[in-house]
Amino acid sequence: MAKVNVFPEVFGQEPVKKALHQAFDRNRMPHALLFHGPKGTGKFSTALALSKLVLCEKKTGCGVCSDCKMVNSLSHPDLSITIPLPSLGEPPDRKKEEARLAAFNGFLEAKKENLYHPVWKENKDLITVADLQTLQNRLSRKPLQADWRAAILVDADRMQLPQAGNKLLKTLEEPHPNTLIILIAERPRNLLPTIVSRTQRFFFPHLPATFLAEFAGKTFDLSKEEALQSARLAAGSVANLYFLRAAEEMEKRARAWEVLQLAVSGNDALLFKSLKRVAETRQKDEVLSFLSWLELLIWEFFCFSQLKEPQRVTSEDLKTGFEKLSRSSQLPFPFLSALEEINKTRQDLERNVSFRLALFWLFIRILKGARPALGSY
Ligand SMILES: [Zn+2]
Repeated sequence: MAKVNVFPEVFGQEPVKKALHQAFDRNRMPHALLFHGPKGTGKFSTALALSKLVLCEKKTGCGVCSDCKMVNSLSHPDLSITIPLPSLGEPPDRKKEEARLAAFNGFLEAKKENLYHPVWKENKDLITVADLQTLQNRLSRKPLQADWRAAILVDADRMQLPQAGNKLLKTLEEPHPNTLIILIAERPRNLLPTIVSRTQRFFFPHLPATFLAEFAGKTFDLSKEEALQSARLAAGSVANLYFLRAAEEMEKRARAWEVLQLAVSGNDALLFKSLKRVAETRQKDEVLSFLSWLELLIWEFFCFSQLKEPQRVTSEDLKTGFEKLSRSSQLPFPFLSALEEINKTRQDLERNVSFRLALFWLFIRILKGARPALGSY
């Protein structure tokens, strides 16, 4: 048996780790695997740990041999990583080539910093038939350093179809010995069924908040409460933990705070103007993230002003603001129904209601709870 914890860098996902470990120990590792499930659940880190296991000199993923070290630095010559990249265009030009290289290096840098670091890719970026030809060529040659080869295809569900799909299918149909191909996909339904049927599938579910809190505490150096709070907001995904820390997120938080202040102080004209600005985006995720902040701030303001439990407020920087707002508030704000209404708005957004309409209705309903006269809106 290899040592028990061969995936020390993978948070949770015990059933997947156990199954992979057993397959490896019994010499029954499938040559093609599909890791699927939501963003930020450890698919890439598991793929890398598994690659390390097969490329390692001692076949233990020891972490100290030269093969393991090269896998850790994402530079092992027998490890291929393919990701969707911007198109080269026709005819290919140098600028675009440089942009592709920069995007790929950006990916490697982010993952070297932390395997769970999410990497933003444009919707139009794809894995192309040329990328898969390169991969096929590499896999048809002997390994350069180890006795195995590993290939990881990140976002394999974002592939130029049908050409690239067919090329990958061909690679899977003619497996080379001692070769491991790992496809990573959030939406495996976008893969050709013939590809899926040639892989062994492993599902990566959302991570429990306890793992996320542990991760957040370690990675972002947060206090226990802060880590738990972030974990609750991140909804099972490490990627969300990162997004929550990005600058744009802080902007959304600032906007949510502005909206809450305007709603509580009864300044409807400015409130709807501010909501209009939130709705000026093409990304549903941005509106959803605004709602998450709003939800958190409403809850904290409720704890502060109604429950009189300021110790439950984790937004330290807003405590003075909460104090001021609770003094100036003219109306009883329907905190709890507001939280429920936010959930309904999330469902509206899933049904592709326009962002502005969804947000306006949210506040019309909330304010109606505070001021029944608004029923005539
Ligand atoms: Zn090793």
